[in-house]
Amino acid sequence: MRKPVIAGNWKMFKTINEAKSFWDSIASATIDASKVDAVICAPYLQLPTLVEASQGSSVHIGAQNMHEEQEGAFTGEISGSMLKDVGVSHVVIGHSERRQYFNETDESVNKKTKAALSYELTPIVCVGETLEQRESGDTESVVSKQVAEAFEGLTEEQVEKTIVAYEPIWAIGTGKTATADDADQVCQAIRETVLDLHGEEAASALRILYGGSVKPTNIEELLEKEHVDGALVGGASLEAESFLQLVEATQ
Ligand code: 13P
Repeated sequence: MRKPVIAGNWKMFKTINEAKSFWDSIASATIDASKVDAVICAPYLQLPTLVEASQGSSVHIGAQNMHEEQEGAFTGEISGSMLKDVGVSHVVIGHSERRQYFNETDESVNKKTKAALSYELTPIVCVGETLEQRESGDTESVVSKQVAEAFEGLTEEQVEKTIVAYEPIWAIGTGKTATADDADQVCQAIRETVLDLHGEEAASALRILYGGSVKPTNIEELLEKEHVDGALVGGASLEAESFLQLVEATQ
């Protein structure tokens, strides 16, 4: 049985004060850590505040990107070792917005995934097709290739520690959600790719999330699907109330 994950991706939203007041609103909620991994992936500057606030709680704090090198002359970048030092546990890698606007490639995603694992950070590796690719029937091949390349060279054990987020690009921030059946079908294709490349144990342990306009009103039908193990949530994770409703839907 795979433990569900509800991961909020705040993207470039919230000041430190706004992050604090979000935390104040969720602090008293009971989240059963044996039943769900609740994660908030915040902008870098908010991470120390959130890590401190979350001490003793069952909510995990994650970043939204990292550089693959440990240190060096990479102006403006943050490394996995710096994230580890701050105390975060998760990191989103290869989000479609980073692939689209910041030239992330399957190769850089692979390097970052390996680097994250080497610092014992849990990578949340994002994959997903464009509308054009979906309409031409290429969804499963595009997504399977992204997963295969992201996981290139990983051991079975490392794959088990990784989380994949399937986020169809056309469903992000648009209000359009893939149907639960469509999401399940692509998540199943991802699991089959992992089965072929990394074996049965890795494939059955790997947690695969769906992302793209997930809200409290559609989370339940997604969670009912065999291959969907949770959600990576943008807009609906910014309000404490809807974030908690998403987490509660797993309990
Ligand atoms: P929305 O939930 O706002 O569609 O964003 C999805 C996403 O990109 C999460 O990473």
